[in-house]
Amino acid sequence: MVYPGLVEMHRLALTHPAGTCPEMVSLADHLQRIVQAYLADPANAELKQLMLVVLTRMIANTILHEVYHSVLDTARDAAGKVTEPDLDEDGHTVASTTVKRDILATCRDLVDRTAVRLLRPADFPAAGSFRIEPFSQVLGLNLKNDQRVARHFALPPTPPFGS
Ligand SMILES: [Zn+2]
Repeated sequence: MVYPGLVEMHRLALTHPAGTCPEMVSLADHLQRIVQAYLADPANAELKQLMLVVLTRMIANTILHEVYHSVLDTARDAAGKVTEPDLDEDGHTVASTTVKRDILATCRDLVDRTAVRLLRPADFPAAGSFRIEPFSQVLGLNLKNDQRVARHFALPPTPPFGS
């Protein structure tokens, strides 16, 4: 079943309730530092380019995460909650020794989402305070979730393609 519900996206919180995972706290902090640095020096073309990379990758990654929720073939109960051993009831990956963390994990930091790493956040954007990692650092789907998508959208598509 392709999930027929709404796709919701919310802005990141500026304060973090107890129990917020460290990846989300780090993500919010690092995004704040990047945006604040740009706002303090909007004529800095290099900083503007980095902010554009971060924000476009953040938006694309978030949209992709939500689309995957909708196209995953998962078992659900009568209330619509996911009932798979490696996913929580909302369809988020629960990583373990046998389940690889992926784009459907709730707790994803800036590197997981954009491949941009703040090495010394307090010094950003000073030289050496950040690094753009290979794009492969951005989390994709783990094998199990990839197979769940493929059950609905097999690749490569085979003819006939519909008429
Ligand atoms: Zn989600």
